[in-house]
Amino acid sequence: DFVVDLNMVTRTYPGDVTAVREVCLSVGYGELLAIVGPSGSGKSTMLHLIGTLDRPTTGTVRIDGHDVAALADRQLSALRARRIGFVFQQFHLAPGQPAVEAVADGLLYSGVGIAERRARAEATLTRVGLADRLDHEPHQLSGGEKQRVAIARAVIGEPALLLADEPTGNLDSASGAGVVELLRELHAGGTTVMVITHDRDIATSLPRQVVMRDGEVVA
Ligand code: ADP
Ligand code: ADP
Repeated sequence: DFVVDLNMVTRTYPGDVTAVREVCLSVGYGELLAIVGPSGSGKSTMLHLIGTLDRPTTGTVRIDGHDVAALADRQLSALRARRIGFVFQQFHLAPGQPAVEAVADGLLYSGVGIAERRARAEATLTRVGLADRLDHEPHQLSGGEKQRVAIARAVIGEPALLLADEPTGNLDSASGAGVVELLRELHAGGTTVMVITHDRDIATSLPRQVVMRDGEVVA
């Protein structure tokens, strides 16, 4: 059983740009892996396809057992909300919003009531090491702490798949190492984690590396 299963996936953009070309990639439940490659090699396009934010031009994308082509946009949004967490280089935290509220927002479309959302947000912030930062606003947090809040928001709904696009790109190396350690802990807890990174040391420290060049997976 694979959480991600891409078969001969191609994504072309208008202007005859082939961002991803005939990619086959299977990722099992519970894996931790890096996607690496030079700028323009198709990493972000891959992550968007895997995150069901985009659909392939040709080929099949199966996520958590669902063929993306067989789902309407609404069903795709539901799959994404319930099963996939996203983390980006930019933390995407709203100015003035306390950490506990930002994390609780990760359950906004889950049907869980406000009191339980808050309780689970506190538990999740505790899990990422921020039990003493519940009411802190983004401007009161370090970069590494902000990324931990963003990760807590991404995993509060216990997604099958956590997609991280350059999660350490805005952090100094010590904070970045802390974020990678947190991703390892989440993986140890059973979450599948895929990390796009330019950082060779991070990539080679992970159990599996998918190397892209010119839209193709080359290793
Ligand atoms: P990476 O994340 O590895 O830098 P991308 O997936 O962003 O690679 O880009 C792969 C290729 O697709 C590049 O040549 C890029 O210019 C092109 N590309 C990405 N997004 C678009 C778009 N929306 N429209 C046209 N070309 C795009
Ligand atoms: P980039 O580095 O390419 O600017 P962004 O962080 O802006 O990346 O996000 C890339 C894409 O993912 C955008 O289309 C954005 O709307 C979408 N996106 C960002 N955050 C989420 C989220 N939490 N859930 C779903 N889609 C998201």
